[in-house]
Amino acid sequence: MNLRCVECEATFPPQLIYQCPACGGILETVGQDAVAAFSFGEGGTPLLRASRIEAELPGFSGEIWLKDETRNPSGSFKDRLIASALGRAIAMGLRGVVCASSGNAGASTAAYAARAGVPAIIVVPAHTPLGKVTQIAAYGAILLLVEGHYSRSYDLARALAEKHGFANLTTTFINPYAVAGLTAVGHEIVAQLGRQAPSHVLIPTGSGPLVKGVWQGLREAGASTRLVAVQAAGCAPIVRAFEVGAQHVTAWGMPETIASGISDPLIGYERDGSYTLRLVRESRGLALSVSDDELRSAMRMLARLEGVYAEPTGASPIAALPKLLAGGHLPTGACIVCMITGHGFKDGRAYQEMPARTHRVEDPHDTAAVARLCEAAMHDFA
Ligand SMILES: *Cc1c(COP(=O)(O)O)cnc(C)c1O
Ligand SMILES: [Zn+2]
Repeated sequence: MNLRCVECEATFPPQLIYQCPACGGILETVGQDAVAAFSFGEGGTPLLRASRIEAELPGFSGEIWLKDETRNPSGSFKDRLIASALGRAIAMGLRGVVCASSGNAGASTAAYAARAGVPAIIVVPAHTPLGKVTQIAAYGAILLLVEGHYSRSYDLARALAEKHGFANLTTTFINPYAVAGLTAVGHEIVAQLGRQAPSHVLIPTGSGPLVKGVWQGLREAGASTRLVAVQAAGCAPIVRAFEVGAQHVTAWGMPETIASGISDPLIGYERDGSYTLRLVRESRGLALSVSDDELRSAMRMLARLEGVYAEPTGASPIAALPKLLAGGHLPTGACIVCMITGHGFKDGRAYQEMPARTHRVEDPHDTAAVARLCEAAMHDFA
């Protein structure tokens, strides 16, 4: 498996480098990988029909499917990238791993490093949700909390990888072996749907490796699917460039959103966003943003109508559905796959603020009173 630059198309023999030595461009892998992933159950996630959500979308007559990536070992699709990149790092004899993360990639790296018995240094912004920070610490990784936005963690991880001679498993486009682990998503979707390829795949998008993996996997499987990159309105550098027809994505100033998984301002690696935008356009797809309120209502729908508990980012494709419909982007008979990328266990805060059918029972012996309470709650809201 060689490396190839997505900009100048120069190729290089397999090695652990993080950008094209000729032009500084993003590297991708080409050909079949002879090195096994360090697997422990990632991938092969279920594709679930969301018929109750379909029924809630007036005027929609197609199919909606959920690719439930919350089922991965550490609760997000990041496990696919880390399994692939860690397998390569171990084969190259590296002594440890470093990962800059907004939470999920760090949790994944920490889990996989624990299993492999290699040291891990995880660098995250200090404001990362508590559930994610707790998970990383539990696996025994060295956890560094850095004030300020994600890009500062990104720079520190690069420096630490160099200093310690560790592999950098940061899941932007920096590690081509990580990104290679995502092609399987596209293949799985086509195999699971069987009789037809999806017309659209909706993808929560930070820097864009998941867009690339889905795009490549679908292409290899012969599908011509439109990709929809979904970002949070409070951090939407790719959407902003898409809307003005720009080629180049510029960095976002200060992210402000509950969607921590895609809160990526791209400062210092704007080219990742430009590449992602290029792939979205090649698929004849689009990029759109959703507000935090739209995210909350999507989380609620996903949990209450389909039994799927997602972190805010993971519900963003559901938030995009009504907007795509209203914009006339979903033709009759559209077959839509929503990537549900991260588990609700990682960030329960947003749910805690939502109205719920929760009641304190004063006297558990008074079953009549409790029954009346339940009866009332059933009529509370639909
Ligand atoms: C990392 C992450 C994303 C964004 O993935 P990219 O490949 O960086 O675009 C989306 N959802 C969740 C839950 C994530 O952790
Ligand atoms: Zn190049």
